Amino acid sequence: MNLLSAKLAALSPSETFAMAQKSNELKAQGIDVINLSVGEPDFFTPNHIKQAAKQAIDNNFSFYSPVPGFLDLREAICRKLKNENGLDYSPAQIVVSSGAKQSLCNVLMSIVDKDEEVIIPAPYWVSYPEMVKLAEGKSVFIDADIHQDFKITPQQLEAAITPKTKAFILCSPSNPTGSVYTKEELKTLAVVLEKYPNIFIISDEIYEHINYISKHESISQFDTLRDRVIIINGVSKGYAMTGWRIGWIAAPQWIASACSLLQGQYTSGACSIAQKAALAAYTGDQHCVSEMRVAFERRRNLVVKLLSEIPNLEVNMPTGAFYVFFRCENYLGKSYNGKLIDTAADLAMYLLEEAHVACVGGDAFGAPGYLRFSYAVSDEQIEKAVARVKIALLKLV
Ligand code: PMP
Ligand code: GLU
Repeated sequence: MNLLSAKLAALSPSETFAMAQKSNELKAQGIDVINLSVGEPDFFTPNHIKQAAKQAIDNNFSFYSPVPGFLDLREAICRKLKNENGLDYSPAQIVVSSGAKQSLCNVLMSIVDKDEEVIIPAPYWVSYPEMVKLAEGKSVFIDADIHQDFKITPQQLEAAITPKTKAFILCSPSNPTGSVYTKEELKTLAVVLEKYPNIFIISDEIYEHINYISKHESISQFDTLRDRVIIINGVSKGYAMTGWRIGWIAAPQWIASACSLLQGQYTSGACSIAQKAALAAYTGDQHCVSEMRVAFERRRNLVVKLLSEIPNLEVNMPTGAFYVFFRCENYLGKSYNGKLIDTAADLAMYLLEEAHVACVGGDAFGAPGYLRFSYAVSDEQIEKAVARVKIALLKLV
């Protein structure tokens, strides 16, 4: 008998965290590693949010919270959805969890049965297919490369749909590509989905506030889909709160109830102190959000300009999130000191060892031949990192 369950044995480790861990190990040895691997804002959580958490401790918010989250937080999320997105939701449709990662996992566990299919555009965020595996479903990938700005077409979506399709995961702004679907593009996907009323649409909007081209557009705005769209969102990225672990869904009430049922047996309500901090994030001054976005946009321009100066890389202009996902295929099949660099993962490892720059190979995101840089670091670090990467790449023969 296997000691580990078959489910767990099939699970891959999170490559983003694995690279970050390797980078931290080298740092601990005193090596000056620039970490462009894990995607998290480098900013500190804004002060008014930290104050609210301190206050919550002093006010003895030390007891279990309601499983779907404190009512005042769910009400604030509904107001946010109305004011920022023009969407009507009631608190009974919101479930707060310990990070958007848990929100996603709750949803997939709640709706996917064995062998049902989940359509995932590739490049995709590392955890989607792994969560589908946990739910015993099957991932069906749609490839969208740099020449289509990493965005799928309605024809591709329709071709991927089968009688077994249970859900479609859309991530805009996207991790790992930084691509953002326009309202018109979302509409073309909605037109296809309208024809298939049994498919759920899981809309991961965690990078909503990091968008350089327009206001955020949610696929939930199309009334014809509304009763089967599940929005995933949270405070991690927009409010620089990755460690606080607060995410949420906005969903049809019966799906929210199912996720709450699951969460009630699994983890209970999210951390009470962190929920009070998230409440302050949504109800407080929103300047912090736009200030961080402006800094990310400046860094995006810098990293794209510098990478474009390296010969034989293919770089596009990401329009959201804080990732640049560029084609490095021309450097694969080359060697350094007799060691062959075969895959993008090999190249990422080479850059870590040779340039002391940590990044993630595209293989982990279902896109071999690409590298992902998270540019949520200072301008100086971006300049230093790309200069080192350039030298290392040009050493390959
Ligand atoms: N979705 C995407 C696309 C992400 O990049 C992340 C960040 N890891 C998450 C969900 C999960 O966010 P959280 O930190 O709130 O769990
Ligand atoms: N979203 C981040 C990333 O892709 C955090 C890491 C993770 O949750 O896997 O790097």
